[in-house]
Amino acid sequence: MANPLEGLSFQNLFDAAADAMLLANDLGQIVEANEVALQLLGYNKAQMLGLKIEALMPERFGKQHQHNREAYSKKPEKRSLGKGRELLALRSDGSEIALDISLSPIQANSHRFTLVTFHLADQRRQVEEALKISEERLRLAKEAAGLGVFDFDYKQNIIHWDERMRDIWGEESEKSVSYKKFVAAIHPDDRVARQTVINRAIDPTSNGEYSVEYRVINPNDGVERWIATVGRIHFSAGQATRLLGVARDITDQKILEKTLQEHRSEMESLFKQQVASQTVSAIAHELNQPLAAISAYSEVALHAFNDANFSPDKLKHALESCVAQAQRAGNSLHELLAFLQKGELVTARFDLNKAVKEALNITKDDGYGGFNPLLELEPNMPDVLGNESQVRKVLVNLLRNAVEAMRGAGVPTSAITIKVSTNQTLNMAHVTVQDSGPGLDKETAKRIFEPFFTTKPTGIGMGLAISRALTEANGGQLWLEQNNQPGATFNFTLPFAPQLNQHHVK
Ligand code: ADP
Repeated sequence: MANPLEGLSFQNLFDAAADAMLLANDLGQIVEANEVALQLLGYNKAQMLGLKIEALMPERFGKQHQHNREAYSKKPEKRSLGKGRELLALRSDGSEIALDISLSPIQANSHRFTLVTFHLADQRRQVEEALKISEERLRLAKEAAGLGVFDFDYKQNIIHWDERMRDIWGEESEKSVSYKKFVAAIHPDDRVARQTVINRAIDPTSNGEYSVEYRVINPNDGVERWIATVGRIHFSAGQATRLLGVARDITDQKILEKTLQEHRSEMESLFKQQVASQTVSAIAHELNQPLAAISAYSEVALHAFNDANFSPDKLKHALESCVAQAQRAGNSLHELLAFLQKGELVTARFDLNKAVKEALNITKDDGYGGFNPLLELEPNMPDVLGNESQVRKVLVNLLRNAVEAMRGAGVPTSAITIKVSTNQTLNMAHVTVQDSGPGLDKETAKRIFEPFFTTKPTGIGMGLAISRALTEANGGQLWLEQNNQPGATFNFTLPFAPQLNQHHVK
């Protein structure tokens, strides 16, 4: 009887096998490959034959493999590789696939070969592995973010939750909780708002997502915590079936927000108080002088009546002066309010030298005369641009301060030098007011522009603060010059008005 296997070659078997097979010689070179193997690894036969086994695995494993192969050739035996761990192979297109691999030694004549049989690693195992890794990553991320996870089953009306959630809700052991108990721990004031948000998400026309913050009171210790939850409703046939969500403890953040808010309102009310008292003080500063003058003129008028040599002219002058001072007070208030309300600053070009002379007259009229004014005015000074009445006010304030300082120190020959010049560097008009008073010590000098700072018994301490604000509003600067000269030297600048003859140049 003829042998039924006669004519069946090794090659026939090799090609018929369901598994992928490669035959490698003892140098690790591939000498034969079946169709399944070629397909799995993406090669044709001509490319495959002669390749080193190492060429079929990711480069990073190459060295280790060479070592393994040498060890195997010393002790060749049937062996399964990759059980319980992934063996990766490199396809011709560079992609990697996980394989289960078996090795069997074959001896033919005096040559030793290794038959490598392989197939794709169990798909299910691969998916399980991937899932395990992804779950692990999720768990780590959840832990790092301090997140609690919960899953509300609408049908059974219970919530499954993790340890972090139980921790917040003060439930130690149960892996699930009734919905009623879950809600009972929520702060009564927050329940309605929370329910409203969830109701909106339960509406099947919505995308089912919601996010809400509420307080949870731990029933064991009464501690209140703020929770931020984000979740999604799952629907089946238009009905909500599940609510999956995560919760985060945001108590610290809430406390911080509250403290910040408190600080802010405290600051706001302090600021309002400050603004109110500064406004009142500025008004007082403006009214002080005219009121003092009105009082003085009224006394003159009263005396006139009692005077044996009654002079109607004297009485008339006193009463006219009262009227003028009252009007001045009214104007001052008007201007001050306009300035405080930051209305549009009315500016015009004016002659600064003239403004200085007017300010000197006002100062004298206010009872601050009796000093020797030394004027150094730049002739043909170009006009400046600003609010003339405000600039006059600055000058009067500086002059009055100078007189008060000199009087306070009892300077016998009091003089004030007023210099008006062009500051070439800044291209601005520059005014210097220098008195022959005691000057200022370093500590005082640091604070004189602060509102309410005064060293005078009846001072208000707003004069320089207002003067600086007025100068800056007019586009200039006001500062105290620190020099070694006697007395105090104040400086301020103002912008020049555009030159008239440049109008047509464009
Ligand atoms: P007040 O005149 O009401 O004190 P100011 O703001 O005008 O308010 O001035 C603040 C302080 O600056 C004064 O109390 C005084 O100590 C100091 N000061 C201002 N001008 C001079 C000056 N020319 N010489 C010396 N000290 C001055």
